Amino acid sequence: MAKVLVTGGAGYIGSHTVYHLLRAGHDVFVVDDLSRGRLESVEPSRLQQFNLLDTERLASLCRSERFDAVIHFAGFIAVGESMRLPELYFRNNVSATISLFEAMDAAGLRRLVFSSSAAVYGEPRGNPIREDSPCAPVSPYGESKLTVERMLRWLDLTKGLRSVSLRYFNACGAEPGSGLGEAHEPETHLIPLLLRAVKTGRPATIFGDDYPTPDGTCIRDYIHVSDLAAAHIAALEWLLGGGATETLNVGTGAGHSVREVIAAVEEVTGTKVPYRIGPRRPGDAPVLVADPERLGRLFGWQPRYRSLREMVRTAWDFEKTRENFRGGNG
Ligand code: UDP
Repeated sequence: MAKVLVTGGAGYIGSHTVYHLLRAGHDVFVVDDLSRGRLESVEPSRLQQFNLLDTERLASLCRSERFDAVIHFAGFIAVGESMRLPELYFRNNVSATISLFEAMDAAGLRRLVFSSSAAVYGEPRGNPIREDSPCAPVSPYGESKLTVERMLRWLDLTKGLRSVSLRYFNACGAEPGSGLGEAHEPETHLIPLLLRAVKTGRPATIFGDDYPTPDGTCIRDYIHVSDLAAAHIAALEWLLGGGATETLNVGTGAGHSVREVIAAVEEVTGTKVPYRIGPRRPGDAPVLVADPERLGRLFGWQPRYRSLREMVRTAWDFEKTRENFRGGNG
């Protein structure tokens, strides 16, 4: 059993990972300022509500609790928003992470699992993407994640900080029966937006149908959030077992276009998704599909969910429980 500090543990992926960590018998503390997280996603007794930029408070927590490791989720995640507000993304994703590094150093804490992103690759030359593909982000969000990965390489060399950076592809779905799910405010992600369109009858927007893909819409690698959580637990165990610093893709290796996601939502909900075609969203690459071979080889990790429809079904089951549910189309 390990004692783990989880930053951003009230968020979507963070709260699912906390849920699975607790079920695996680990002890968990969450630091989250709730600027984007959901209070109801985390047990109040486990939550400390403050911003990671408060280095003193973070250092004193790390010193007093003597954590074995940190899993660092806290950060902002919207590619489009990062194009409008780059300073905010560099402050929340880079400056706050430096503050965390300082606090960890002050407490002699040297194991970290970091939430990185496929956005570090920018527009890759080929798919599926291996970890040694060139990194050339096309958004401040992606740049902020790559900057932290680069800092982590130096902290390994200079301070012996061992880390696993997990480059997430497109997290989706919800752990059945957990009460947890994807509920960002504002929501920017495709699957919850399509489910809301079904609920409200208000059309979703497809961001561009003139991409160089078979049906003209962007292709992404959708990975179930519980499989992502399992990858974090495997990374934690790797570090606790003395494993070296690693950077790993987390995806299924299968790509689905926006139109295929719409078809899956229609199948699961039994309702036509109202949508319109809009312009491309700045910062979106046409295709991002993981090669997850390295994660499987090092950690023995394999996704439990491989069917997009099953992933969407778990998202829909969560969405139906949300209070503004109006049922049906319209
Ligand atoms: N997308 C869309 N309409 C939306 C939200 C997203 O067409 O309202 C597209 C987006 O362009 C991308 C895919 O859906 O190709 C997944 O986007 P999302 O924001 O869910 O995740 P990202 O790929 O940005 O991490």
